[in-house]
Amino acid sequence: MGKKYVYSFKEGSKEMKSLLGGKGSNLAEMTNIGLPVPPGFTITTEACNRFYDEGQKLWPELLEEIYLNLAEVEKTLGKRFSDQSNPLLVSVRSGAVFSMPGMMDTILNLGLNDDAVKGLISSTGNERFAYDSYRRFIQMFSDIAMGIPKRKFDEVMEKMKEDKGVHLDTELEAEDLKELVRRFKDVYYEDMGTEFPQDPMKQLQLAIEAVFSSWNNPRAVIYRKLHDIPGNLGTAVNVQSMVYGNMGDTSGTGVAFTRNPANGENKIYGEFLMNAQGEDVVAGIRTPKSISELEEVMPEVFEEFRKVTNILESHYRDMQDIEFTIEKGKLFMLQTRTGKRTTQAAINIAVDLVNEGKISKDEAILRIEPNQLNQLLHPAFDTKKLAESEVLAKGLPASPGAASGKIYFHAKDVVEAKGRGEKAILVRQETSPEDIEGMIMAEGILTARGGMTSHAAVVARGMGKCCVAGCSEVRVDELQRTMKSGSITLKEGDYISLDGSIGTVYLGDIPKVEPELSGHFGEFMSWVDEVRRLKVRTNADTPKDSAQAVKFGAEGIGLCRTEHMFFDEARIPAVRRMIVSNSETQRKKALEELLPLQRKDFYEIYKIMEERPVTIRLLDPPLHEFLPSNAKDIEELAKSMGIAAEDLKDTVESLEEVNPMLGHRGCRLAVTYPEIYRMQTRAIIEAALDYKVNDGVEIVPEIMIPLIGDADELTYVKKEVIAEIEDVFRERSDSIEYMIGTMIEVPRAAITADDIAKEAEFFSFGTNDLTQMGFGFSRDDSGKFLNAYVDKGIFAKSPFEVLDQRGIGKMMEIAVDLGRKTRPDIKLGICGEHGGEPSSVEFCHRIGLDYVSCSPYRVPIARLAAAQAVVKERMNLQLDK
Ligand code: ADP
Ligand code: MG
Ligand code: MG
Repeated sequence: MGKKYVYSFKEGSKEMKSLLGGKGSNLAEMTNIGLPVPPGFTITTEACNRFYDEGQKLWPELLEEIYLNLAEVEKTLGKRFSDQSNPLLVSVRSGAVFSMPGMMDTILNLGLNDDAVKGLISSTGNERFAYDSYRRFIQMFSDIAMGIPKRKFDEVMEKMKEDKGVHLDTELEAEDLKELVRRFKDVYYEDMGTEFPQDPMKQLQLAIEAVFSSWNNPRAVIYRKLHDIPGNLGTAVNVQSMVYGNMGDTSGTGVAFTRNPANGENKIYGEFLMNAQGEDVVAGIRTPKSISELEEVMPEVFEEFRKVTNILESHYRDMQDIEFTIEKGKLFMLQTRTGKRTTQAAINIAVDLVNEGKISKDEAILRIEPNQLNQLLHPAFDTKKLAESEVLAKGLPASPGAASGKIYFHAKDVVEAKGRGEKAILVRQETSPEDIEGMIMAEGILTARGGMTSHAAVVARGMGKCCVAGCSEVRVDELQRTMKSGSITLKEGDYISLDGSIGTVYLGDIPKVEPELSGHFGEFMSWVDEVRRLKVRTNADTPKDSAQAVKFGAEGIGLCRTEHMFFDEARIPAVRRMIVSNSETQRKKALEELLPLQRKDFYEIYKIMEERPVTIRLLDPPLHEFLPSNAKDIEELAKSMGIAAEDLKDTVESLEEVNPMLGHRGCRLAVTYPEIYRMQTRAIIEAALDYKVNDGVEIVPEIMIPLIGDADELTYVKKEVIAEIEDVFRERSDSIEYMIGTMIEVPRAAITADDIAKEAEFFSFGTNDLTQMGFGFSRDDSGKFLNAYVDKGIFAKSPFEVLDQRGIGKMMEIAVDLGRKTRPDIKLGICGEHGGEPSSVEFCHRIGLDYVSCSPYRVPIARLAAAQAVVKERMNLQLDK
């Protein structure tokens, strides 16, 4: 015998999904665990592939196998295909490995012809039912297998109902349906020029061919492309004996979830229709009833149904989405699969299943996709209202969340609007550090330009603020204060809503609902924390963000950037004076103004973090970012310094840089102006001493020096930092412990990490810059071309979003090895954006970092990803054994 292409349901199992498709393998599984499944068989996905090799024809041996299996079904049921007294009817159902819209729909009641319909009448004594089944079959077969528009049949049906003066198909009588069959056949003849095929074998063959052909119809091909489903998987075909939900008032059909897919409640959830067939329930021709009513209408059937759902759940160990039919009071199962659910339901179900003893905690941990947690952490739009809203444009999902408000085109207008008590959305071509206050005050941010790592995107994610970036469909005119999308123009003060999780912009003000972090969420996260080895810290620059992160479970701060503190409106004049000073005395004077402010910043953050470790990074950005740009600012600044505006303008120009990201920034600032880092160090240490004296809490501040590329650079800067610390200790006659470490973000630092570790007590991988410098991709400009890399399949994802493990990750591994060689107890972490991206977190676990650090709203995601890394490692160990 040649290759086997047809499997009876009795021969298959749920493990054979790639051969039998999702539907077929589960029908087989249900059959073999003793559930009531109408007998049938599955033609394999391999047959589909051969069908294409054979020039889209069914070959004789395959037909032979199909006949044999059909004969088996006939024998089991004591019915025969096309029989005059007791005919066998079947459904033909497509079933790919992944369920896929665009594939052929199901044909029911196949095998009916003018003889068999009589047989159906004589075997059931139900003429109405027989003609109802026949008219359904003609319509489905014509539409699905032969491509005759369904509409043509619907029109004939509507006319019939109108003539009879009835509204529902159930009100049509046997005679009407018999007439309908005749008219349907006419429609077929008109369209095809041939009679409706009477030979059941011919019908079956055409239907199977139609399923196989639908694998390559344009809708299916596009869907596969979108979801990265390979085109060579093929689809299976299921041929299954019919059971009838349209045999009267003790018959019906329905769909159900074994638990509530919206909130996870352990209660069957679903709908059914009496005296109906197939997709009537979802087609909306009559209003279906809630499954709870089945308990009243047919208590015994409901009891059995409940038993079956319990069996299915215990067997699949997960919530199931099922389809069933009741024929004259008897229950039949027609489909089961793992049900789709919201994140909240997913967590509630996973926790319940553990508590019910059905799955282990490890399994529960793997069942939640870390990024899904986003849905729970941010307020979400009211789903009903959302459905009624108009989409204005689509951009990049830069920072998740839902936001609505009036649009403003300048940061200061947002601040003013907020002052008036309005909700505002900041709309910009793109944002810059000067917009920071407006960004803080805005409900959400929309930019027309810039990618996932643009200023707007990074800052918004850091703040946990909703942001849609790079929305190129929208034209923003900041001067005219308008935005245009297609034919719609909005002006300042108009309402829009943003969904930062999918990058969609809606018209109008869509109401929101606060998410509930229910008890189950807490329980789930406690399991996550028990399992993981990696610590999770946060990137936070303000007391507010720090507090939010602690609420989300942050165990410390991995990156406290000090530059955002400098942008504060009240401070920027002093910062600017410091930068443009042309003498050390002048600079020190400006720095003295800043010292008490920074000390207060740190003190407040310490108080929120308590004993948790805090890593503070000394000033990093290029000085030119702080410079005044317009004439008015320059004039004011000159006045406050008592110098001529003209002179100041020259100074400002001299400070401008061609390539600031590779320019005068990071530790290079400390090489030219050591007093800047000295002031910051003093603020860090004094605040820690204050905390010790005032509150009795002794912390170990971690001082982080950015952009080191050479060990000698670090030696120099560290000497200055320690000198300042010694000064403070002497002045206060007090001391505390502290640590000094560095970012690893310049490739040269990574490959000379053994030298650098002589000076550094900790490393924190700055993977944003490491990626930028490793690839030579400018973070600010790469939006222009990186999309093309992804579209053309050169990169699966932008390396700024998902860590490039092979290259950039290799540098990290080298640095870890070299660093530990010099200093075995060196503390290792990551503070780049990747610290909150699940696959990158898993990588950090594998290379043995001590912690990851990410924006507050990603902390729970990183916790879960860190736990999954451990569980996967355990599973691999088991597999290896
Ligand atoms: P889909 O993939 O679109 O869900 P199915 O193949 O599951 O398509 O068929 C849709 C519906 O048709 C089923 O839910 C069931 O109600 C009905 N159906 C399919 N096969 C049979 C059958 N053998 N007997 C009775 N009803 C059937
Ligand atoms: Mg369907
Ligand atoms: Mg189905």
